[in-house]
Amino acid sequence: MDMNLFFRISFLSLWISIGIVRGYYGRKTKTHDSIVGISEKLKTAKNEVGQGLLILTVIITVIGVIGIILYLLSPPWWTWTHLPLGEYIQWAGIVVSIIPIFYLVWVHRHLDNQWSIALEIHEEHKLITTGPYRRVRHPMYLGVFVYTIGLCLISLDILVILFFVFTIWINYRRIPSEEQMMIDQFGDEYLEYMKKSGRLIPSFRSDED
Ligand code: SAH
Repeated sequence: MDMNLFFRISFLSLWISIGIVRGYYGRKTKTHDSIVGISEKLKTAKNEVGQGLLILTVIITVIGVIGIILYLLSPPWWTWTHLPLGEYIQWAGIVVSIIPIFYLVWVHRHLDNQWSIALEIHEEHKLITTGPYRRVRHPMYLGVFVYTIGLCLISLDILVILFFVFTIWINYRRIPSEEQMMIDQFGDEYLEYMKKSGRLIPSFRSDED
């Protein structure tokens, strides 16, 4: 098989796999699929990131999705986005994106129905500090970021890479507000947890107790 086609099929399969994982675990969380729900979500997003950044996100997402479709279809007239780098980088990308899929299953099982796309605290929300949350406060973001870097390496496509780097940045930006929300909710318990864990890079300080 043509290697370029092989990598494109791998990219698509990995993309579908993460969609299945997130869809499967997402069904347990409260979903508001009505129009009212969607407009509520847009309002929350606007408050979270600000209007300017929300518009930029929409524009970049549209360009990114078109970029991904063009990468996957690779018509002969669309070659300028492809970076002529070694195939071994694409192989490494497959490994780098497969591992986080299993890791994310573990994270989802732990976070269970407390997962949410918008930053929110549910009724009876419990602070989780075990399993994947023991050493890292944001294992889900960590998994998604590593997975995304893997897809960038597989594609070696400028538009795909720019889009994914942007999504990593957007998600990284909300970590401080998420942590503030958790501090407001859980107080000292979360502050103690922060001392023992790392944001994205595992901390081994909890082993010292
Ligand atoms: N940032 C986390 C969770 C992402 S989902 C991660 O990367 O794994 C976002 C929601 O998870 C937030 O709205 C918050 O309510 C919840 N959350 C984040 N950290 C949590 C924790 N340690 N325990 C329980 N819920 C948490």
